Amino acid sequence: MPPSAPFHPEVPPMLEQSASFCMARSQLESVVEVLNLDVGTLKRLAYPKRSMMVSVPVRMDDGRIEVFFGYRVQHSLTSGPSKGGLRYHPSVDLGEVTALAMWMSWKCGIMNLPFSGGKGGIAVDPAKLSRNELERLTRRFTEEVLNIIGPRQDVMAPDMGTDEQTMAWIMDTYSMKIGYCCPEVVTGKPVEIGGCLGRREATGRGVTYCILEALKDLGIAPGQTTAVVQGFGNVGSITCHELSLRGIRIVAIGDRYGALRNPKGIDIPALTAWVAAGKLLHEFPEGDSMAPEKLLEEPCTVLVPAALDRVITRENASKLNCTLVAEGANGPTTPDADHILKDRGILVIPDVLCNAGGVTVSYFEWVQDIQQLMWSEEQVNGKLQDLMLNAYRRVRTLATTKNLTMRTAALALGVQKVVAEMNRRGLFP
Ligand code: GLU
Repeated sequence: MPPSAPFHPEVPPMLEQSASFCMARSQLESVVEVLNLDVGTLKRLAYPKRSMMVSVPVRMDDGRIEVFFGYRVQHSLTSGPSKGGLRYHPSVDLGEVTALAMWMSWKCGIMNLPFSGGKGGIAVDPAKLSRNELERLTRRFTEEVLNIIGPRQDVMAPDMGTDEQTMAWIMDTYSMKIGYCCPEVVTGKPVEIGGCLGRREATGRGVTYCILEALKDLGIAPGQTTAVVQGFGNVGSITCHELSLRGIRIVAIGDRYGALRNPKGIDIPALTAWVAAGKLLHEFPEGDSMAPEKLLEEPCTVLVPAALDRVITRENASKLNCTLVAEGANGPTTPDADHILKDRGILVIPDVLCNAGGVTVSYFEWVQDIQQLMWSEEQVNGKLQDLMLNAYRRVRTLATTKNLTMRTAALALGVQKVVAEMNRRGLFP
């Protein structure tokens, strides 16, 4: 029986203050009616299955001892090993990591991957640590969470502030502990130690496939399309690159230090080389520096938030000047803003679909590591495109037939997959 009145499972006290967790919760509750979920099932989905909080002592280069707080949350263990990134950012806390872990469950569900949702993080600004300090931090964190990770238990991957090198240190620490080489304990590793060709570019490519498909639906040619991208890290920079390869003009880009605008289109290879040389994005000579808080309001066809969460809010949603929002980041749009965008007729490709290319190629990497074989980059990209388009079309069909937003349809598909598996397995004892 579906709940007769809206039912809100209690929020555990530690998560009460978390805007991210409350947002993930309200998104989950938005599909209760669509899926006819009963209260007991909703309760089983509304809490993380397992959360671990650790303090991570690190000897800094100057001899001081610093202690950092780390988290690993496994939202679900229903569909396979927990899967999800490890984030290094000062804002990381239990609520944010729990929300991100829940989103990973729905993301893996939408993509039909044999994984449950997980996420981890350390509250740290990685730019303030030396490479040696980062290595000690990562290895000690791995040691602290060792009991709950493993290729069949919980498989980490890069996220904001972490990269291939971070994964290599985790893989090495884990392998040393168990006594043999275990590349399948993490994904997003360097290719020479079992990483997958195309994994680094996968999220940005997936975002691009979704955008091209949406443009087709909207009847807009890529040559007629402009894009504004917030974030020039892994996801933002690859998305810019892939979009510009297809003739889409990138007219503004922002990062944590500032924003840059050029209505004629920014030269992405030149900007990438500029930033790689350690120069500031907004000082790139072929464009004008602009106020970062105005970036999201810049006129364009496609707006790609590919950095932080909760940047499209009740306050600015009415000021967006785009036809399409493609969520490269996790959680960039608040539920309030979602309503405003819906009323304004702006199409949103939701995070759990739009940025799922990363975890999809992580799945390819895990499979190759287990089978000890290697796919070509063409094979990887081809399979990624197939799975992304297939998911995009399933979400679009549900949205059209049930008159739902793309977000509600995507969440409904993801949650439904987990619920079906949970019900089949039953409740122990
Ligand atoms: N951190 C990425 C995400 O949020 C990738 C996760 C993975 O590959 O496991 O989807």
